[in-house]
Amino acid sequence: MIPGYAGKVLHIDLTKGSVRKLRLRKSFIKSYIGGKGFGARFLYDMVTPRINPLSPSNPLMFFTGPVTATGAPASARDVVVTKSPKTGTFLDSNSGGFWGCWLKIAGYDGLIITGRAQKLSYIYINDGSVEIRDATGLKGFGVYATTEALVKEVGDKNAKVAAIGPAGENLVKLAGIVNDLHHVHARGGPGAVMGSKNLKAIVISAEPRKPRFEIADKDGFTDYNRKIIKEVVMGPPEEWARTDGTPIIVRWSNDVGVLPTRNFQQGVFEDVDKIDAEVMRSFRTSKGACYRCSIACRNLTKIKDDKWGEIELDGPEYETIALGGSNTGLSDFKAIIAWNSLADDLGMDTISLGNVTALAMEAFEKGYLDKDVLGGMELRFGDADVQMELAKMIAYRKGIGDVLAEGAREFVAWLGGDAYKLAMETKGLEYPAYDPRGSIGMALAYATADRGACHLRAWPIAAEAFGDMDPFTTEGKAKLVIDMQDLNAVKWSMVFCDFLDADYELITNYFNHVTGLNYKPETMKLIGERINNLIRLFNVREGFSRKDDYIPYRVAYEEMPVGPNKGFRVKPELFKRMLDEYYKLRGWDRNGVPKKGKLRKLGLGRDISRMNVSGIIS
Ligand code: SF4
Repeated sequence: MIPGYAGKVLHIDLTKGSVRKLRLRKSFIKSYIGGKGFGARFLYDMVTPRINPLSPSNPLMFFTGPVTATGAPASARDVVVTKSPKTGTFLDSNSGGFWGCWLKIAGYDGLIITGRAQKLSYIYINDGSVEIRDATGLKGFGVYATTEALVKEVGDKNAKVAAIGPAGENLVKLAGIVNDLHHVHARGGPGAVMGSKNLKAIVISAEPRKPRFEIADKDGFTDYNRKIIKEVVMGPPEEWARTDGTPIIVRWSNDVGVLPTRNFQQGVFEDVDKIDAEVMRSFRTSKGACYRCSIACRNLTKIKDDKWGEIELDGPEYETIALGGSNTGLSDFKAIIAWNSLADDLGMDTISLGNVTALAMEAFEKGYLDKDVLGGMELRFGDADVQMELAKMIAYRKGIGDVLAEGAREFVAWLGGDAYKLAMETKGLEYPAYDPRGSIGMALAYATADRGACHLRAWPIAAEAFGDMDPFTTEGKAKLVIDMQDLNAVKWSMVFCDFLDADYELITNYFNHVTGLNYKPETMKLIGERINNLIRLFNVREGFSRKDDYIPYRVAYEEMPVGPNKGFRVKPELFKRMLDEYYKLRGWDRNGVPKKGKLRKLGLGRDISRMNVSGIIS
């Protein structure tokens, strides 16, 4: 076995109640690295085109990578991969905490779950044994109570739990899978896939002092790790993460006019002083870290309040503050903490939840929804009680919550008429917290992201509004987005956290020390490109093409009304120019389909003729 890997993947079929241990081929490992790469290959090979993502045959897969649990900075991650019930695309969604590290320490590079259990169940992985156990007593439990009950039930206070809440059980498309209480595989609805399998949780007991994997060059790894901790982690590149973490971005985004405010109607929030990092610090009890992470970016906060009670939270992160704060017009930081905690317990993605909440509020205020439909409820921006109530209605699919549980695209389709103008989504995934009207590259990044609108595939705003590039011109943006997407495909395959300031050289050095292989940075770059092309092929096979790489009406046709980007919008002709250039540089045709020559160059030639894609490839 190649060092850095445990060498085994578990396949659990919940319908049959069977457990198999699969060995990974060396050639497979070398071509796809781990995490996202493993998931891309498995999903493409396992899934029959056009299956219902909530059917038993859609696999729910968890993968670690070669650096997971090694003690490298930002390496406490795992990736969940499945066909998304939210978008119908490939989906990978990663999370920190401890759970993913425990999976690898226990001796598994991944976990593939298929089928559907007859009754609500949980999986218990303990050393070499794997059991499917009854979880019917946990039906309807929130994530917190589920985690507490299962840690007690397995009798190991160090056991790690990944669980779904009521949202996942109710097949809400905004549902995530929550590791270790507050670390969420959030985007694209993986929690609904887990719910569709009647699987409440996966519990792992492992012995961190006896990891079941090796590091090839231990001394070299230790020396290199020390150097990176000194120069990168403790140096200027990670200062923002070590100090305030992502809440620092609230102020950055507001200053450059991209902070989503009241459903992206504007990019500056008049109450930003009440939700920025300085306010977060007043609620912070300590800094926190995922397993052995030297960056320790986490903010552990606490509130004690007559209204919300006593709440301890690992968070909130920037995205949560922006989507559940400025975007819903909420400027009460305590309420944002309470809402974040509620979303984690219900098991939901705060990005999509904040986005659809704000959308419903705008729809109400503009007369698309009336009180009768809402049972007398008034959906006003800035009303914390309504925001909280709506989260519960969505998780339990009550009233209007049943429609919102499907997402922004489905909600505006249900409203009809010109309500589509209010929805901020691409491919059915709700927009994260950077308005492209202040950083045009973000429009392309969201439009071409494999899982729908996502800032974790490419984050060109770092070079545009937060950097030196002109944020309003299209020049160089297609190449920038492609380079970032390919690098991130490698990061999510290693699996590193987004917050490590890593280039190909750093990643390759870690990879070589851990595995004993002798890769060059160019090899890694090629693997990133291979993974993204394979995923595009998966999406093409599912029927996706240029028509699905779109930007929302608001971004294209409504000028930013106030702030530094006043008067700017991403005109359709500018977007088209970027998209054409993007396809050309990718080696894809005008419809966004990878060409044969490109696929062969990437070692994907055998995929051209398989699974009905040959007829649409030129
Ligand atoms: S950088 Fe932060 S989120 Fe990432 S692994 Fe480290 S502590 Fe966790």
